[in-house]
Amino acid sequence: MKKNSIAILIAILVNLVIFSSAFAQGEELTLILTKDFGSDGFNGDIQGTFTVKASGPANLERVQFFLDDTLLNEDAEPPFTIQFLTDNYATGAHIFSAVGFTTDGMQIGSKTINAVFVSKEEASATSLKIIVPILVVVFGAMAISKITTSVDVHKGKKLSAGATRSYPFGGGICPKCDRPFGFQLLSLHMFGRKLSSCPHCGKWSVVKEATMGELRAAEQAELDTGKTLIQHVSE
Ligand SMILES: [Zn+2]
Repeated sequence: MKKNSIAILIAILVNLVIFSSAFAQGEELTLILTKDFGSDGFNGDIQGTFTVKASGPANLERVQFFLDDTLLNEDAEPPFTIQFLTDNYATGAHIFSAVGFTTDGMQIGSKTINAVFVSKEEASATSLKIIVPILVVVFGAMAISKITTSVDVHKGKKLSAGATRSYPFGGGICPKCDRPFGFQLLSLHMFGRKLSSCPHCGKWSVVKEATMGELRAAEQAELDTGKTLIQHVSE
């Protein structure tokens, strides 16, 4: 309990020190980086056209914008902004800063903004990095499903027409061959439907989950189709 109070006291003191040092430094320009056109990824990665806006005291007269230690431009009219295209500068980490001048001759520093300029290729590669894993998951699940399906076939699990089966993970009716089958644990859910391969005809479809009644009816329908086939053969 006492330890906690001491920790809180220290935290308050640290905050006071931070606040008082901020006041001691006087006013500081605030910099805001906004995207006009392009991409901004995680970790401060940016590519395209961006604007840095500086704001400060009411008597702010002009602002010099710096990229690293190089003067980019000076704006003598509010709003104090600078627009730039990342492609015009070297890729990698950069620091934005600004210096403001007031009507009464004061010079004001600014907070800094860190950004990493990336090339167009890198920017699109970043989006690919997000898309590719999703595709890997989709195709991976399809592959696993396919393997289990063929394993079932090899095991001789192929069901005869009309056979009553269990559907531990739900089941659906194949839109291609109209035969019912149980879903696999690893099949993909898509808006209440499953992307699944049919163990009877082997075709992939997005199958709606069927009710137990529908599944049993489809089993019966298999039997009828089977009978029709036999009848055709015997005729
Ligand atoms: Zn089928």
